[in-house]
Amino acid sequence: MEIEIIEKDEYNLKFLLKGVSPAFANALRRVILAEVPTMAIKEVIFLENNTALYDEILAHRLGLIPLKTDIDRFNLPSECECGGTGCSLCEITLTLEKEATEDHEILYSGDLQSLDPGTEPVHKDIPIVTMLRGQRVLIEANASLGQGKDHAKWQPVSTVAYKYVPHVEFDQEKCTYCHECADKCPRNIIKIENDEKIYVTDNLECILCQLCVEVCEDDAVEVKTTGDEFLFKVESTGALPAEKIVTKAIEILERKSEEFLSEIALIA
Ligand SMILES: [Zn+2]
Repeated sequence: MEIEIIEKDEYNLKFLLKGVSPAFANALRRVILAEVPTMAIKEVIFLENNTALYDEILAHRLGLIPLKTDIDRFNLPSECECGGTGCSLCEITLTLEKEATEDHEILYSGDLQSLDPGTEPVHKDIPIVTMLRGQRVLIEANASLGQGKDHAKWQPVSTVAYKYVPHVEFDQEKCTYCHECADKCPRNIIKIENDEKIYVTDNLECILCQLCVEVCEDDAVEVKTTGDEFLFKVESTGALPAEKIVTKAIEILERKSEEFLSEIALIA
């Protein structure tokens, strides 16, 4: 197996994964989506809410706000010593109190106050509800770690996807430099130099649409994939750094494989 990082910043990670089967690539994708835990609000206690929105709608909106936290400090409630009833190792409390002093004042995610210093909304400017003068919201919310397989609010990514690594090849002998393929390419990556050289500027940009192959009357283009090279794109919601999401997913896969092996050993 070989990994090559193509692009990396706090929220995005693009990398090449080579020498693995499609099943492995998909297992990694699914673990990222469904099993890497993040923190999200799971319960809201309303002490006051006379805004235009029902408690349930506000609670739903609060649940979807991505929270940044150090997940290694917390346990999943199902794996916690408290048995999931809620303790400082698996649950944190946030409060929110706001009274609008004028009409059309907006309640933002940044108005949430976390009682845990390391946990806070990723973005402070997510609008929750527009309030009229005198309207009040007073709530207490409990957040815990959870997994995407239980609710999408616990998904650490807005997207995780992969594609086979494309290889676009030209037969320079057959090519008559008609420019058809270069004109049709939706990614505009086929370049022709002085009608004597044809090449692709960036193979990874190819979307495997095969338009170049279809329009080429000289049969001079081939778009191939090897079946064991993947281009992965991970886009974090901000709850966890993109790199952390991938390393955590690998840890989970490893733990599951070990559990599987020990179960097999017991049967044998
Ligand atoms: Zn606990």
